[in-house]
Amino acid sequence: MSNTIKCDMAVLGSGPGGYTAAFRAADLGKQVVLIEKHKTIGGVCLNVGCIPSKTLLHASEVISEVKEAAAYGLKYAEPEIDIDKLRNKKNDVVAKLTGGLGSLAKARKVQIIEGIGKFRNSREITVSSTNNPADETIISFEHAVIAVGSRPVTLPFLPLNDDRIWNSTDALNIPFIPRHLAVLGGGIIGLEMAEVYASLGSKITIIEMMNQIIPPADADMVRNLAARLKKEYEGVYTSTRVTSVEAKKEGLTIVMEGEKAPEAIQADALLTAVGRRPMGKDIGAEEIGITVDEHGFIKVDSQLRTSLPHIFAVGDVTGNPMLAHKAVHEGKTAAEVISGMKSAFAPMTIPSVAYTNPEIAWAGYTEKQAKEEGIPYEKGVFPWAASGRALSAGKTAGSTKALFHKETGRLIGLGINGARAEDLLAEGVLAMEMGADAKDIASSIHAHPTFSETLAFAAEMANGTITDALPPKKSDSRKK
Ligand code: NAD
Repeated sequence: MSNTIKCDMAVLGSGPGGYTAAFRAADLGKQVVLIEKHKTIGGVCLNVGCIPSKTLLHASEVISEVKEAAAYGLKYAEPEIDIDKLRNKKNDVVAKLTGGLGSLAKARKVQIIEGIGKFRNSREITVSSTNNPADETIISFEHAVIAVGSRPVTLPFLPLNDDRIWNSTDALNIPFIPRHLAVLGGGIIGLEMAEVYASLGSKITIIEMMNQIIPPADADMVRNLAARLKKEYEGVYTSTRVTSVEAKKEGLTIVMEGEKAPEAIQADALLTAVGRRPMGKDIGAEEIGITVDEHGFIKVDSQLRTSLPHIFAVGDVTGNPMLAHKAVHEGKTAAEVISGMKSAFAPMTIPSVAYTNPEIAWAGYTEKQAKEEGIPYEKGVFPWAASGRALSAGKTAGSTKALFHKETGRLIGLGINGARAEDLLAEGVLAMEMGADAKDIASSIHAHPTFSETLAFAAEMANGTITDALPPKKSDSRKK
């Protein structure tokens, strides 16, 4: 059985990219249909990604804050952890947000169709009901936005159908608390989930193929985190590969190859977090003439147009970085272009944050990127040990590093490791978008004492005007 719905714009996938495109287009007067295979809208980010993970990480943060409070003469008993309650809290947060999105869609008259969508031709999408695939709806559109996202990469050597082998979705459900959790991949998901399970009492081993954890970040930005993990975790093995995993009744044997790694470890569960793969090949896009590369990424221009000019793509499926905030901005741009506005997606930078302890955040050029690309820069680094606010809060394991272009003087890169780096980064992003230089940042009065001052101090380090620490010797501009 099938019926047909006509609309101005069909959006395939309701994650941050998809729902933003749908809502913006509806606000600009378009009649929009939003297609989603899951019961709730919001995609990976709201349902099984950013939001549930941050809820669990909040619990971890409280546990570690309570431990750190001992240094302030505040002694608490060991926490009693009620896993069901924690899981329910996380589910409540997700339900509130996805429910809120549902109301926003309704208020805008965005029609949500539940089911799996595939292009039938370049003007129609077939949506098969998730419960009954024979039950089809045809969506006939003038424009379409593909926002189908990505899924976790799976590794061929892992045992199948074993409930001790997890991806990030499994880990967020806290099926049980393993005595020893091995984490394959020392990227953002692996390290964030490791924080959660470590605070729930698991021993943790991290196995990372590259020579440092969070490989895209500068080595000096991950040093504090790496030092803490080395002390607190069972093992952190970089430059190491897993070659096989054997599932036995009594546990998992994980066999590795790496300079400093043991030959094998025993673990009770294994989380794989080795990246995500775009879903561009799953929706019949190539069949209607859309260019999809060998990885499944859909090629788009700066207005998010695919090779078919009336079909757009946004979010993870258009390329790295696979981040919700990139998808949101792309979604907005696509909706505006479809509505006849002269918008383009041309950010100076897309910021990145790892919600570890300390947090690691960066935007613009990292130092290694600037070196690789031969970009001339000056840098200012302010160690948090010299920050009154960091000292008062017991958060001295941190630093703020700002890179300025040697010729234009503009801020071109910012790296922060430390508490609330997630929020501190925003000032640097704005500074980059506005073309601010070290003087602009240093002479904008930052409230004292705050963590935010550390960016101004890093700018003062670069231009030699710092008084809260000794200026670096190389600078001759301090006399000016
Ligand atoms: P990632 O790319 O951040 O990290 C994967 C890590 O696994 C890398 O360090 C990589 O070197 C390593 N790796 C790959 N293959 C390996 C192997 N066979 N053995 C050992 N190590 C291996 O990917 P992720 O952590 O899976 O996250 C997926 C996506 O989701 C990323 O784009 C990430 O940015 C995004 N994400 C963002 C946030 C956030 O913004 N806070 C949180 C979670 C996920």
